[in-house]
Amino acid sequence: MQSSDNQPIQNVFSLTGKLALITGGGTGIGFDIARCMVQAGATVVITGRREEPLREAIEKLGETAHYFVNDVSELSALDALVEQIETTLAPIDILVNNAGINLKKPALEVTDEEFSRIIQTNLNAVFALTRACARRMVPRRSGSILMISSMAAYYGIDRVVAYAASKSGVEGMVKVLASEFSPHNVRVNAIAPGFIETEMSKKAMGGDPDRRDRAMRRTPMGHFGKPDDIGHAAVFLSSDAARYITGASLPVDGGNSIGF
Ligand code: NDP
Repeated sequence: MQSSDNQPIQNVFSLTGKLALITGGGTGIGFDIARCMVQAGATVVITGRREEPLREAIEKLGETAHYFVNDVSELSALDALVEQIETTLAPIDILVNNAGINLKKPALEVTDEEFSRIIQTNLNAVFALTRACARRMVPRRSGSILMISSMAAYYGIDRVVAYAASKSGVEGMVKVLASEFSPHNVRVNAIAPGFIETEMSKKAMGGDPDRRDRAMRRTPMGHFGKPDDIGHAAVFLSSDAARYITGASLPVDGGNSIGF
């Protein structure tokens, strides 16, 4: 099977020769995005605040994986991180803004400090790192930027006010950046995951079987997603197979977004 420009179809989905930076790539969804991208041929750089999970992840990912200990919420260090990666490895072709934190609390109990902490990691850092990468991608006229958003950006899910605000901000950012960067051949997209089995979603459910049952009833496919469901979508959106897709937010949610 060939694509329109006579490439075998598997080549269109290949990330061979590409360098991908995946924040929060040591665990959960980020790890599976890195794993799928390595399988698609990419060299990957994963980041996180804790070294141990990153080291363990690298062992599983193999020799085309590298890590940098980095806290994305320290915005002033992000340009230096990008510079260091590009100097020691190669130009970054793919950025995946995956690192994120949640806070499950009734809105009236959320403090200013807590609200700001979520916004700093999930929104301010996404902009700062995207800008650092895009400043280099735009002159090269090549790049793909992917945000891991959430269906919380679209639906009123109780007790995640700061998280929902941060992810809605990311969704808005995608459209503006996609518009500004399109003439420079840099694409910007989002994936909006539904309920995916990770440490974050386990914590969000708080071990409460009722909450789990409610979430399951709101998922038409009748089961939660796996981190590699996001990994597969991330490979697609970062590859040439998606070369005409920008400014999009792809729900990967077992049908949550169909509505109720
Ligand atoms: P996890 O908590 O399993 O992983 C989050 C990762 O982000 C960890 O590796 C963590 O590493 C890293 N991280 C957190 N804060 C920072 C920081 N300040 N700087 C650098 N790295 C950081 O979460 P998930 O895998 O579930 O979530 C990944 C993304 O997917 C998030 O953006 C989340 O909002 C989104 N998402 C998840 C859903 C789900 O159901 N699981 C649903 C919808 C969206 P460390 O602690 O070492 O820094």
